[in-house]
Amino acid sequence: MIAEIVTIGTELLLGEIVDTNAAYIARQLATIGIDHYYTTTVGDNEQRIAAVLQSALARSDVVITTGGLGPTVDDVTREAVARVCGRELVFHPELLAQIEAFFRKRGTTMSPNNRRQAYLPAGALAIENPVGTAPAFIVELDQKAIICLPGVPHEMTYLLQERVLPYLSQRMGEGAVILCRWLHTVGIGESAIDQAISGLMHSSNPTVGTRAHPGQTDVCITAKAKTHAEALQLLEHMEQQVRERLGAVVYGVDEETLGGVVVTALCQRRLTLALGETNTGGLVARRLLETEEGKQVLVGVRIALDGLRLAEDLGIQEPKANGEMACKLAGLLRERYAADLGLAILETDDETPLLCIALAAPDGVHLHRWPSRGCSDVAIVWTFHFALDVLRRWLMEKPA
Ligand code: ATP
Repeated sequence: MIAEIVTIGTELLLGEIVDTNAAYIARQLATIGIDHYYTTTVGDNEQRIAAVLQSALARSDVVITTGGLGPTVDDVTREAVARVCGRELVFHPELLAQIEAFFRKRGTTMSPNNRRQAYLPAGALAIENPVGTAPAFIVELDQKAIICLPGVPHEMTYLLQERVLPYLSQRMGEGAVILCRWLHTVGIGESAIDQAISGLMHSSNPTVGTRAHPGQTDVCITAKAKTHAEALQLLEHMEQQVRERLGAVVYGVDEETLGGVVVTALCQRRLTLALGETNTGGLVARRLLETEEGKQVLVGVRIALDGLRLAEDLGIQEPKANGEMACKLAGLLRERYAADLGLAILETDDETPLLCIALAAPDGVHLHRWPSRGCSDVAIVWTFHFALDVLRRWLMEKPA
C-alpha cells in the first residue's frame, strides 16, 4: 500500500508554523510498513487542495490530509474532498450533537459557524474527535481512500493512533502482520551508519531506515508477513545483519534508553558511580536518576559550572582545566564517595576547548577527548551521550 500526505494550511506554506504533522505521520506509516513517496503542502484554497488531492489519488492508494477542518470560511478541506469525489456535503446531526457536547463539557457555548464541521462528503465514514471539535473522516473510493484529520497536532496524533493506523492495518489485509524494531546507536553519526548499512537499506521487506537525534541515531527495521512467526524471523534475520555491520555502537532496542542500559550494566556488576559534571546543567545525573535503579548506583553527584569550580568544590586548587585535571577529579570523586567508578566531565580552558571525560576505575584512569560543541541544549545532549558511552564501553568489557 502506498500512502501520501497532504498538509493543508496557508501558515504552513508561509513558514509561519513548521509542519510537524507530516513528519509524525510519515514516521507512523513507516512503523506499520506502509510505503510513502510524496508529501505535499497546500494553502487554504479549495481549488488548489482539490488539484493536489487529484494528483495524490492518481499515484497513491491512501491520501492522509491534515488541517482545514475547522469552523471558519478558510477551512475548506471538506469542500475540496467533496469536489474531488464528485459528492455533495451532507449534514450529520449526530456530529453536531458531539460538537455541542464538546463545548458544553468545557462550559462554553458552540458558535453557529461550528455547524459547518458537521457536514461531510456523502458516504464518508465519520471519525468522532473526543479531543477537539473538528470531526475527522474517511472517504473510500473503490480501492482508494482519503483520510482527513484535523491540523491541531495533539488532535491529529490521537486520531491517527486510535483510529487511522488500525484502519490502515486492517485495510492492508487480514492476516498481514507488521513488526517493527528500533535499534539505538550511540557515538556514531547518521552518515556513518548509513554508509555501514546502505546495502541493507535497499531491502523492501524488511525495510531498514534511520532517524538521527543529537548524539544518537536509530535504525528502524520493519518486517511484513502473513504470520507473526514469519514476520519475526524476517525481522530477526535483518537485525542480525544490521548488528554485524554496526557492532558495539548498538546499545539498545525499542524502549531501552542509554541511561537505563548503563544503570542496568552497573547493577549487574554490582558497581557504584560518583559523578562530577560541568557545562551540562546536571543532565547526566538527571537521566541516570530517572531510571529505576539509578539511586542504587549513583552514590555521589557534583554539578558545577566549569572544571575549575568543580575542582574547588572537591577541595583542590588547579591553575587550568585540562585532561590531566579531569583524571585527577575522576579519581577524587571515586575516593570521596568510596565508589567503584568516578566520572568527571569538563571542558578545557584552551582557545579551542576540548570536552574531556575521565573515568577512574579499578583498572586505572581512562581519558577521552572530543572537540567541544559548546553548551547549547543540543551540545549538552551530545555530552550526555559521550559520557554514558564511555561508561558503557568500559562496562561491556567487564563480566556481568
Ligand atoms: P481546528 O478545528 O482546530 O481549526 P483544523 O483542522 O482546521 O482544526 P487548522 O486550522 O488547519 O486545523 O490548524 C489549526 C492549528 O494546528 C494551526 O494553527 C497550527 O498551529 C496547527 N497545525 C496545523 N497544521 C499543522 C501541521 N501540518 N504541523 C504542525 N502544526 C499544524
